[in-house]
Amino acid sequence: MLFVAGMALMGAGTLHAQGEPTTGVRWFPTAPVQGSLVQIVIERAAPADTIPPIATLAGQPLHFERGIDGRFRALGGIPIGSRATLPLLLQLPEARREARDTVVRIPVAAGEFAMERLAVEPQFVARPDSALTARIDRERARAGTVSRQTHETSRLWSGDFRLPVDGRVTSSFGRGREFNGTLQSRHMGTDLSGQTGTPVHAPNRGVVALVGDFYYAGNVVYLDHGAGLVTVYMHLSKVLVAEGDTVETGQIIGEVGATGRVTGPHLHWTARYGSISVDPLSLFDTEMGAFAPLAP
Ligand SMILES: [Zn+2]
Repeated sequence: MLFVAGMALMGAGTLHAQGEPTTGVRWFPTAPVQGSLVQIVIERAAPADTIPPIATLAGQPLHFERGIDGRFRALGGIPIGSRATLPLLLQLPEARREARDTVVRIPVAAGEFAMERLAVEPQFVARPDSALTARIDRERARAGTVSRQTHETSRLWSGDFRLPVDGRVTSSFGRGREFNGTLQSRHMGTDLSGQTGTPVHAPNRGVVALVGDFYYAGNVVYLDHGAGLVTVYMHLSKVLVAEGDTVETGQIIGEVGATGRVTGPHLHWTARYGSISVDPLSLFDTEMGAFAPLAP
């Protein structure tokens, strides 16, 4: 594979001061933050271009689709551990025969991730015994399967997303956490406030890819929205859908609860692009409405 930055059609491959690329590739937001979604747009698609580019970002395949404006669009994920720039590996149709990649560097803004200290039941910070380790590993493997399968699912979502509950954010994505003064981890979701029994709505169309009772996550639902996008709902008191169900935007999928490792009832909401966990609130900064509506 040959890495060529700045092919003729890509201009100089450099960035303007405002972060707008001079290349035929744009993205929204212009400087995505660590742990967020990004929308990639190929500006240069000619009317006759029908072959989508092949692209990879942070090890995940992108799924380009032609919009009503003729441009190819795809979502991608910016890992929380990304450095100042993240290479987008792009293989445009005319370069396919030689498998020639163009590298476009996407600038990444540093996230502000505060530290918080929490007290939970001691069983959630003790070193898991072998039976519990096996259980947690099985749960991770099931979640990993969803992350892989979503790349095979065609896009089910369209238009803007909505919040799953009308809550306020009680703990933001990416925070460092110390449990009971010892265990340290990172908060890979956004917590929304809600009392036990508050309905949880699907933020957009998707298929229920996983329903489980997980050790840390409690009662959990994974929605596969297709084309790489998954959203996850944790600590539910009640699950009102089954694996394989197709859910529509706004449909009630469960109720807020306090199952798993929690300090009280709330909704822990996560989004993933493939295996990359991102802040679900970035669904609202990514111009999701610019994607073509789905055929009825
Ligand atoms: Zn949480």
